[in-house]
Amino acid sequence: MDMKKQISISTQNKLILLGLVISTILIVALAVFAITNIQQKISEVYDDFGQILTKTLAIESVEITKDVQEYNKFSTLQAHTKSIINSNREIAFIEFKDADSNIIYSSKKEYPTRASEATIITSAPMMSEIDGVRTVIGSVTVGLSGTSMLHISHTTRNSMLVVFTVAWIIFTLVVLINTILITRELNILHHGVKKISTGAFGFKLDPKNTNGEIRELIDAFNDMSGRLHQYEEQNIDQLTLERNKMEAVLMSIANGVVVCDNYDNVVLINNAAQKLLQTNEDEILNTKIQMYCDSEGELCFKEKIEQFKDTPLDIMENKPLEFNITIDKRVIKSVISPMFSKSQDYVGYIIVLIDVTKEVEIDKMKSNFISNVSHELRTPVTVLRTYIDTLYNHSDDFDEATNKEFFGVINKEAARLQKMVNDILDFSRLESGNVNVEKENCNIIPVIEQTLQSMQVLAEEKNVTFSLIKEPDLPEVPMNVSGIERVLNNLLSNAIKYSPENGRIKVRAELARDPNFIEVSVEDQGIGIPEEHQKKIFERFYRVENDAHTVKGTGLGLHLVKITIEKHHKGQVFVKSKPNEGSTFGFRLPIHPENIPDEDEKQE
Ligand code: ATP
Ligand code: MG
Repeated sequence: MDMKKQISISTQNKLILLGLVISTILIVALAVFAITNIQQKISEVYDDFGQILTKTLAIESVEITKDVQEYNKFSTLQAHTKSIINSNREIAFIEFKDADSNIIYSSKKEYPTRASEATIITSAPMMSEIDGVRTVIGSVTVGLSGTSMLHISHTTRNSMLVVFTVAWIIFTLVVLINTILITRELNILHHGVKKISTGAFGFKLDPKNTNGEIRELIDAFNDMSGRLHQYEEQNIDQLTLERNKMEAVLMSIANGVVVCDNYDNVVLINNAAQKLLQTNEDEILNTKIQMYCDSEGELCFKEKIEQFKDTPLDIMENKPLEFNITIDKRVIKSVISPMFSKSQDYVGYIIVLIDVTKEVEIDKMKSNFISNVSHELRTPVTVLRTYIDTLYNHSDDFDEATNKEFFGVINKEAARLQKMVNDILDFSRLESGNVNVEKENCNIIPVIEQTLQSMQVLAEEKNVTFSLIKEPDLPEVPMNVSGIERVLNNLLSNAIKYSPENGRIKVRAELARDPNFIEVSVEDQGIGIPEEHQKKIFERFYRVENDAHTVKGTGLGLHLVKITIEKHHKGQVFVKSKPNEGSTFGFRLPIHPENIPDEDEKQE
């Protein structure tokens, strides 16, 4: 990543370098062109100078030798030549020739070194005019050393080079410094943008040492960064709030919720689900839900999740997969439904877990109840039909005692039937909450005595005896007399039902340990109730018989007792029992129920 960035930055530098190279080439070319041009001009001027010099010398030498004797010519030319050569370092040699190209005089012999320096050689004819006729009498050849030309040329070239080099250096420096300055400022901005891109909203750049457009850019950047920071904070607050809200909602849903992603990993599990699955977040998060085992090591979800995945999504969407799993004797209904993102992509599934142990138990008890009731109803109805039929057809054949006995049975069975029907009616009435419980202040003793009396027949059948132990001066208590009679009736009938022949039943009425209550209890010496059933026997339809006892019944009696005492009288029910030793059922009634908060208020 970084390498790439560096390369992309150097592209800009590359351009600058390219510009520099091109401008260098241009400057060099310009310099070369200028120097060559100047040198050429100098050499042309030098050539001209050589020719002028030669011509002048030719004219001059003709002039000075015109009137000189032939034998003196040599010395004249020699003297003249010497004076010229000595006065001018440029001249390497001078040579005079006659018309036949014989050398008259040459300075080469006297100045051999200088002659060897000659680089430019020019010749001019020597002309004499006699009577208007011009004739060539010889020629002059001048050799020029070219030193000054070379000197000028070098100096010019060097100065030009210096000028161009200095100009190039200055130009390059300006470009480089400018580039560095701009790059530095761009780097500052680049640093800032990088920070923002990593999420450091609110990061500010230092605008000092910058000005102009870069300054404006940095100010704008700082402004943008500040706004982003503000926006981020608002957004994060909002998101956190939303998330917390969602999480709180999810976490406090009473049903269990497990969310799995596309790869079956658990990504979310609420408190209820943790409890139901007897696990905790740390254990189960990011594990595959198929691998979840109950306490007996059974894979609860594996098969169903596979079934879910094999079913087309649109079917699952409309009809989620429902099944029951059992974890540690609890029955948990599980519903798997697919989960989609906003853009309708499949992202995983949600498992909702509902504890249906109670419902399943009640279902079971309900079906038991129905079979019990039908059985219970059939017995008295059959007995009644048989007895009534017999009496109807043959009453004349029987004596009065037999008839009376038959009527007794009919009466008893009818009463049993009535009790059962009453119980069922009471139950549905109480369950629907549709009852008006009127209460009056009453002493409970007469109510107990009355009930004992009505149960006497039933007790005698089993030869069971009652004894009533009553505390004197029991305070009066507000009560619904028929309700309390029903309670006593149920407790006593149970005591008789579950007592052996000749059993003894003790009924106590006293002030409770908490003096705000009176307590009534019914103690028998019957079969007792195993510990694990004791908590449940007050539930509707619950019967120990289905598991341990064998006596028939509907399972409604104690439920009616509980509702009447707790709901209608704000009292309490209790049971103490040991299998094969006996049971004590009882209840406490508040003397001042108005001081006791309602059940609903208590929960709040
Ligand atoms: P119903 O009273 O409606 O005819 P039931 O007696 O079976 O039917 P409940 O009175 O609600 O129902 O009692 C619930 C269960 O509690 C009974 O099935 C019985 O097993 C147990 N039980 C109640 N009283 C006693 C008792 N005194 N001794 C032993 N077990 C009892
Ligand atoms: Mg009963």
